[in-house]
Amino acid sequence: MGARAATRRLVTAAVLATLCLALVFAVERLVRAATFANGMEAAESTLRQTVNALDGHLRRFETLPALLARQVEVREFLTAPPGPDGVQRMNLWLKYTNRVIESSDLYLIAPDGTTLAASNFDRAESFIGQNFTYRPYFTEAMAGGAGRFFALGTTSGIRGYYFASPVRDWAGRIVGVVALKIGVDAVEAAWTAPSHQTLVTDPEGIVFMATDPVWLYRGMLELTPDRIERTKASRRYADQPLHPLGQTVAQDDDRHLITLAGSDGVPREYLSVSREMPQAGWSVQVLLDTAPLHAQLRLSVATFVMFLGVALSLAWALWQRRARLAERIALQAAAQAALEGQVAARTADLQQANDELHRMQADLVQAGKLAALGRMSAALSHEINQPLAAARNYAESAALLIDRDDLPRARDNISQILSLIDRMAAIARHLRHVARKPDEPLKTLALAPAVAEAVATAGARLAASGVTVRVDLPPDLPAVKGGPVRLQQVIVNLLCNAADAMDGSGGVIEVAAFGAGPSVTLTIRDHGPGVAPAIRDRIFDPFFTTKTVGSGLGLGLSISYNILQDFGGDLRVDNHPDGGAVFSVVMQAAG
Ligand code: ADP
Repeated sequence: MGARAATRRLVTAAVLATLCLALVFAVERLVRAATFANGMEAAESTLRQTVNALDGHLRRFETLPALLARQVEVREFLTAPPGPDGVQRMNLWLKYTNRVIESSDLYLIAPDGTTLAASNFDRAESFIGQNFTYRPYFTEAMAGGAGRFFALGTTSGIRGYYFASPVRDWAGRIVGVVALKIGVDAVEAAWTAPSHQTLVTDPEGIVFMATDPVWLYRGMLELTPDRIERTKASRRYADQPLHPLGQTVAQDDDRHLITLAGSDGVPREYLSVSREMPQAGWSVQVLLDTAPLHAQLRLSVATFVMFLGVALSLAWALWQRRARLAERIALQAAAQAALEGQVAARTADLQQANDELHRMQADLVQAGKLAALGRMSAALSHEINQPLAAARNYAESAALLIDRDDLPRARDNISQILSLIDRMAAIARHLRHVARKPDEPLKTLALAPAVAEAVATAGARLAASGVTVRVDLPPDLPAVKGGPVRLQQVIVNLLCNAADAMDGSGGVIEVAAFGAGPSVTLTIRDHGPGVAPAIRDRIFDPFFTTKTVGSGLGLGLSISYNILQDFGGDLRVDNHPDGGAVFSVVMQAAG
């Protein structure tokens, strides 16, 4: 692999990694938003329930003091406070009523703030004799309104909500206050839930109800001297020392996050939602531990990263496969190209060899032509020079004989000259046959007469060689297509060659024939040495001869072969298994 490819890979990997990181980051944001929105919803719903429960709890008692203030017993008691018996009766009545309405304490306060009768008269922490002028609910009620206050009981040390109402005499003057206290411990105890914490703060921001007791009486808002002063004046939390809650607050989008240490001292982050309860002057907060949210977020992101990893692995595997496939295709293409190159090279080689062969053939043809020309020249010069020389001798002798007036012998010489001239004319005629096609039209011929005529024509020659001819033709031999003169020339030629081959041995030349389908074949068999395989293909060439110069021109078979081609037939040679050559003259059957 080249350096450039490596760099490209590195860059691709870096870009991909950045993209993945960005994707993971974006997904983390999305999932975080969704997870926290879910958390918020859960916290809000808890908050709603908590506020409703608290509100319901308070409302149950809200109207009771006003109702009690109108009771005859109460009014009369405060209008003209009785002696110890009357007080005892009132105490019992209050105790009984307190039990019926399920409040924590019920008591009557004189206009000077002193408690005259109380439901807890028989307890150690009895309110009787206590002065509550410092409690806002008392001053409010004495002012003619409905008093309400939340506080830690100074006597009992128990947190409670106080409701108070003025008690008027028949003239409408305020003669005292009826107050009742309800506890909040039971409400608080019902809040325990593992996923969230709940706390309630007073208008000064001080926590007075909480799922974790360590947060009680701690300030959520800054403990300014004003606040401390107001709290002290109402003795709301008796002598409890006030400390800051020590929470840190963060705002994330529209979410309120606070970090707070519980009784175990471990600071935890909470998602906080709060609601004011204006009538009570409270603020209720529900704190949702964000640790499970973070865990859920982490799990979601981890799952996504895992999926991304799997997807990337799959993509990578797929890409690898494609790369391998492409590589294989490239290899195949290369192999194909190599093969094609080889084929081209081979073809070029073959072409070259072919060209070479053609050149060699042309050379051979040229050589063959020259050889043929040489043979022809030798034959012709012999055939012509010899009669010319003889004719010259005869002419010289004739001239001498005329000078001597020996005219008969001179005439004899001249007739010799004439026969020599005839012989040369015959040679010229032969040559003309080679050069030109005769115009003789093809006819339908009977073979038997043609053979008989040829045998007669060659008769003298055959007799001179001492051979005889035996002709054995089937009687129903079909007629053939050909020229009578040329066919005779062929047969004479073949008979003479046969006689030459037998060379005066006195044998028999056998002439036979047979018809086969569309052709008729005439065979001429001799008993000579046959045709040697080495020259078999060449005996039909013009000027090919094995005979001595003067005895053969080498044109006989060539002319015969061409004549039969003209007839649409063929001339073939074979050697007979019992010796001798067999020439087959193949002709088309007529009609
Ligand atoms: P020429 O007879 O003038 O040689 P041809 O063309 O007739 O010319 O014959 C060519 C050659 O074919 C002969 O020289 C001879 O070698 C061979 N040949 C022809 N006929 C026969 C035969 N019947 N038997 C053996 N050889 C033959």
